[in-house]
Amino acid sequence: MAADPDRPLSSRGVAILGSTGSIGTTALRVLARQRDRFHVAALTAFTNAGLLAEQAAEFGPTYVGLVRNGADGAHPGWGSGDACLIEAAVRPDADIVLNAVVGAAGLDATLAALEKGKRVALANKESLVMGGALVTAAAERGGGELVPVDSEHSAILQCIAGRPSTEVRRLVITASGGPFRRWTSKQLENATLADALQHPTWRMGRKITVDSATLANKALEVIEAHFLFGLSYDRIEVVVHPQSVVHSFVEFVDGSVLAQMGVPSMELPVLYALSYPDRAADTGVPPFDPVELSPLTFEKVRARDFPALELGTQAGRLGGAAPAVFNAANEQAVALFLEGAIRFVDIPRAIESALGRYSSAPAGSREAILDADAAVRRHVQELFRC
Ligand code: NDP
Ligand code: MG
Repeated sequence: MAADPDRPLSSRGVAILGSTGSIGTTALRVLARQRDRFHVAALTAFTNAGLLAEQAAEFGPTYVGLVRNGADGAHPGWGSGDACLIEAAVRPDADIVLNAVVGAAGLDATLAALEKGKRVALANKESLVMGGALVTAAAERGGGELVPVDSEHSAILQCIAGRPSTEVRRLVITASGGPFRRWTSKQLENATLADALQHPTWRMGRKITVDSATLANKALEVIEAHFLFGLSYDRIEVVVHPQSVVHSFVEFVDGSVLAQMGVPSMELPVLYALSYPDRAADTGVPPFDPVELSPLTFEKVRARDFPALELGTQAGRLGGAAPAVFNAANEQAVALFLEGAIRFVDIPRAIESALGRYSSAPAGSREAILDADAAVRRHVQELFRC
């Protein structure tokens, strides 16, 4: 794992947390084409030792971490345990930390990297939703920088292009509508896991695929936009756009509206989060053909049938612990749904119950947020215990 002597001096080191997942593998595809600009400094995974070893052999990082680096098949020389995310995130040879871990497990690494003054290319939206104030404060203290990987937020960043938030009237975040866009509320009562995992436009990890079906993902994205761009919730809206070609709109105070478009591929927002504010020449994304992609259509969100969006937005407005409560209830309910233990429609019910009980929990520190997170997970588990 020695550093490559042929590496260009200007090359920036990238630590990828969650390199074996959907975003992690997408990022490595991008980086394989960008060896002049970037090199892989560190890689981490949770359990997938086989793929991690292949990635390490191909990209030669100076650090490899496997959270569950167990006795059977332990890899000597690899970091292990929860600490390996932090170890990878604060390495001196990592200029950019791509946080592509799923869920609350990503929080500490986001905080640690920002405290160390790194750029965090943030796919792990859950860390910003849980700990928005803490994450923002860590960036201010450490001089770190948050750059979104989420396609909608990447679109907004590209449209805002450095203009002050006082010039922005409104953000309109697009949502594909997920696999259940046309399902009636009666049909939703019987939606199965297999149905929920059939996303029409994006191939992603299981948790975010379910979040896209409930629209909890859009709620997480509304809260994410609030913290990233400093706009109040009444200036952030959601519209359904089934083709996932317009990645979001920004309306400015003069009435002009900018949108960023492209074929639905995460390669572009991943590359932009690495190269921002520059644009790196890249051949990975297929050419844009508006005729081929047409028609582009837009619809209202069916808020009553997909209550997670409104619940999450309300949690955002409430502030304090409420976004962390929303996130934890959703994560726990999705985990139960993925195990086959609860129904699809139980997910928003769990969120509503948790918000009713824990929204005003203390939220002033990392420990308080993690306490609320743990209490909410127990609450959701108990809710469905027969
Ligand atoms: P995946 O489930 O495909 O990948 C998750 C990655 O994190 C894997 O490398 C996994 O390792 C690792 N991991 C899982 N649990 C833990 C844990 N407890 N501690 C440390 N590492 C862990 O998820 P996605 O790539 O789809 O999503 C990652 C993040 O990016 C999420 O926050 C999601 O919301 C966000 N995002 C994803 C998009 C997408 O297109 N996929 C689009 C926009 C945002 P292992 O493989 O060993 O299990
Ligand atoms: Mg998104």
